[in-house]
Parts: sequence; C-alpha cells; structure tokens
Amino acid sequence: MTGVSPSAPLDALALRPDFPILSRKINGHRLAYLDNAATTQKPRQVISALAGFYATMNSNIHRGIHTLAEEATAAYEGAREKTAAFVGADGAKSIVFTRNCTEAINLVRYSFAPQRISTGDEILTTIMEHHSNMVPWIQLAAERGAKLKFAGIRSDGTLDMDDFLALLGPRTKLVCFTHVSNVMGTINPVREMTAAAHRVGATVLIDAAQSVPHLPVSFKEIGADFMAFSAHKMLGPTGVGVLCARDGLLEEMPPFLTGGDMIREVTLEKASWNEVPWKFEAGTPNIAGVVAFGAAIDYLLHLGMDRVREHEEMITSYALSRISECGGIDIYGPSDTRLRGGVVAFNVPAIHPHDLATFLDQRGIAIRAGHNCAQPLMSRLGILAAARASFYVYTGRDDVDALVEGLREARRYFGR
Ligand code: PMP
Repeated sequence: MTGVSPSAPLDALALRPDFPILSRKINGHRLAYLDNAATTQKPRQVISALAGFYATMNSNIHRGIHTLAEEATAAYEGAREKTAAFVGADGAKSIVFTRNCTEAINLVRYSFAPQRISTGDEILTTIMEHHSNMVPWIQLAAERGAKLKFAGIRSDGTLDMDDFLALLGPRTKLVCFTHVSNVMGTINPVREMTAAAHRVGATVLIDAAQSVPHLPVSFKEIGADFMAFSAHKMLGPTGVGVLCARDGLLEEMPPFLTGGDMIREVTLEKASWNEVPWKFEAGTPNIAGVVAFGAAIDYLLHLGMDRVREHEEMITSYALSRISECGGIDIYGPSDTRLRGGVVAFNVPAIHPHDLATFLDQRGIAIRAGHNCAQPLMSRLGILAAARASFYVYTGRDDVDALVEGLREARRYFGR
C-alpha cells in the first residue's frame, strides 16, 4: 500500500496511486471523483484479488472435494470471518452475504418481518431514509395492515429525537433507520435509538450503507438486531452485500430463496435447511466478489477506521467552509462536522442540479444530482433535487477546490 504511516493522518494524495481509475482524464481534466456515497473506487489490491481469484483458484464452493474447491471455500469463508471481525459481529455465523445492502434489508423484510407484524402493529422509520430502507416497509405495512410511522428531522438536519421517542409505543414491532444519511450526512445516535426501541420490545434494523465504510462501527456495541451494508461503498466490488444479525435471530427465520447449497436434505416430498448463515445463501454466490471484499477490508484495516473518519471529518469541514464562501448556496444537513459524515448536498439557486452536474463533468468533476434516492426527504426539505458531493479516503482538498472553482464557473456561465 502506498504512503501509509500508521501514526500520521491519512494522506489522500499518497493513496491515489493505488487507485488506477483516479489517473484517468475526464474531458481533458484530472478526475475529481466526488460520488463516493453512490459507490467508491477500487484499489489495485482489490482488483488483483478479484482477478487473482479467477486466475488461480476459481471453483465453486462448499461442495467440491478437490484442491481448488477447498481453496475457494477457505477464501470465501475467510472473508466472512474478516467481515464479522470488521463490524464487531457475534461471529462469522451471523454474517449473510447478499447482492447488496438493498437485498440484505429485503431479507429481513421477507424472512423476518411478515411473521411478526399483524394488523394494527407499527413500524417506525425516519423521513431521512434511502428508498432501500423505506420502500420495503411501505410495502410490508400495506401487506400486513400495519401502520408505518416516520420520525422527522430538525431544521439543522439532525433527527428529531423527541419525535422518534414519542412515536415508539407498545404496538411498535420493527424500527428501521439509517446510521448516516446519504443526503445530509447526519450521523444518527444509533445506540440511544436502539436502546429506546428495545425498551418497547421492538426489533431494530440499521441501514449502515453509509456508516460501516466511513466510521468505526461495532454492531455489538450498538446493540441492534440487524445491520445491512454494501461492499461496493467501501472499496469492494459490486454485487456483494452483508446482513449482520444478532445471535439466534437467523435461526428463527425461514429461508428467503430456496434451491442449491442452502439445503441439508431433499426428498421428493420435502427439504430441510442447511445451518445459518448458509441457509440464506441459495445458489452459487458471488465468490470472487466476496474474496475481493476481504481484500477491501484488509485495505481499510491497514488505514485504520479512526483515521478514515478523521480524514473525512477534515475534508467535510473544508468542503462546508469553501462552499459557504461562495455565498448564496443552500447546504443541507448539520453544520457541526462531528454530527456529519462525508456527504455535502447543496443547491445553487436557479441552476438545476442536473445542469450543474453536467457542467462540472465537463471539468472532470463527478458529483451526484437528483433526488438521491430519498424523495420523501427532498419533499421535507422543500426541494425536488439536490447536487451531492461525497468523499472518501482518496479525496483531497484539491478535489474540493476543483468543485468550488467549478461552482464559480457554473454561476458565471448560467449568469447566477
Ligand atoms: N442505504 C443507504 C443509506 C444508501 O446510501 C444506499 C446506496 N446509495 C443504500 C441503502 C442501498 O445500497 P445498495 O444500492 O448497494 O443496495
């Protein structure tokens, strides 16, 4: 790994040679990649792990007796151990690999929730959720005749805890909330929220898609029942998600998908299920992707999650102050960077975010623009769309400077 000294702060520029894509020119400009909340770039260590798997040990897992099958199984199950240790889970058996965070949430929605929710029960979530942690609950509530409630936000973009607490009650069965907002960057007080939900006997699912990649997260310390996230947002490949579950919960749940690899015994009349977590991994999984995800975890561990967080806090605070200096730009979310992850959503009045993103792309600057998969939050903020810059370990002040210069030029160009 390039330029990593364990005691010094992260040096984003020194890490960049590890990321081949960052040396690309986009429309003749250096790429300033500021769309990390959508997906992150991959270091050569992860790319080599992916290619290396196919080049040296490609085989199906669990059922083979030959050397390649044993090596591939060990690599796949080794990545499960690494994942469990990385997020402080009870152990490898509490980690289910899925396709992405959305599928991990849907595993809870389809396998856990229906048996526990009946007419008149309540599901509590928040207005700041990504659609992936909202649509499954809208659908489930409609299907089961349950009531879906939404805790609101305060004007500074933090969760309205009073509202959240007031909405919990004896009929609340499930409480599902994001750890970090993918739009405002708000870091929610997940430990307090989980404890409050448990006091009324509810089960808690945390959408950790924007926290596990960016902050030290301990599933056990938070005390939640389920936690979902995606590998591709933390230097890993696409096509791998994780559901982490409290000890004992997976055992109680019926399988989500059925077929090969998830069975113990099959007769013409019936089938019995494999142990957890394999009961939930029907068919051939993304073996190479999971193995390469293990390499992404190694990379992050080498950097140190405390330092990843410190770096992002520094870069977010730099971005907030530089964007504010431009004047007249609406910035969403908490101004206190201790309460905020590496995401800055904003609007330049009278320039549509899509026009802005297209203009910036001409200068090699990649941002997200649109409803950011959070339409109810957009409505709450009184907007239809927002531009969003989001950061990661290789984001430097130069990327933020490029963005701010691009914003100034866009304003001149659009006459705003
Ligand atoms: N939750 C949050 C907070 C997210 O930001 C995202 C991705 N933008 C998701 C869930 C869904 O992740 P995936 O698309 O990898 O399933």
